[in-house]
Amino acid sequence: MDPVEKDLRERLAKVGREIFSEGLTHGASGNISARVPGTNKCIIKPSGYSFAELEPHHFIVVDIDTRKVLEGNEKPSIETPFHTKLYRQWPDAGGVVHVHPHYSTILSIIGEEIIPMGIEITEAPALAKGISVAKFAPPGTDELADNLVEAMKENVAALMPHHGLTTIGKTIEEAATNSRIVEFLAKLHYEVMLVGKPRPLREDVLKGLVERAKQKGLLI
Ligand SMILES: [Zn+2]
Repeated sequence: MDPVEKDLRERLAKVGREIFSEGLTHGASGNISARVPGTNKCIIKPSGYSFAELEPHHFIVVDIDTRKVLEGNEKPSIETPFHTKLYRQWPDAGGVVHVHPHYSTILSIIGEEIIPMGIEITEAPALAKGISVAKFAPPGTDELADNLVEAMKENVAALMPHHGLTTIGKTIEEAATNSRIVEFLAKLHYEVMLVGKPRPLREDVLKGLVERAKQKGLLI
């Protein structure tokens, strides 16, 4: 097997186990993928597997332009349409993470955009640009893919109403960090709403974070 592809499969399995054990997703839900650099291929989670049981060889290679399965015996994730669309929209995106974390899902249902309030955002500074809320569409549909890429025209993260969260990054690890921090900010936002009104970090701090993300070469 091509060493680049082998490395990506191992990294995907590792990131999958991490986000599963951290509770960002449950059962067989959620899906992740990574672009094979310099190609129009991505490697994506198969349908029906829990991240806890996924091994590197289970992942499926899919053509980003046609969504055709190029390698693998399993069915690719039902959300393959938005993974491939996001790679087409963001040529520098190297990884996509889609999860169903509790607090992000709560805020998605009431259509509440997450306000960057906690200083933990410094771990994922690209999020200072904002986390949008996509329009609702049923899982696995082209409509969902269209709504999500629309919401992620400018932003590396978006909430999906009644469903969950999607983030991208230059690498699969960066996309996973973005997901972790969005969920952290969502929990904070939810808890602030219990006692008062969410207030964003100061504008100059947010602008500084966006600059930092650019300097660090993150996807932004
Ligand atoms: Zn989902």
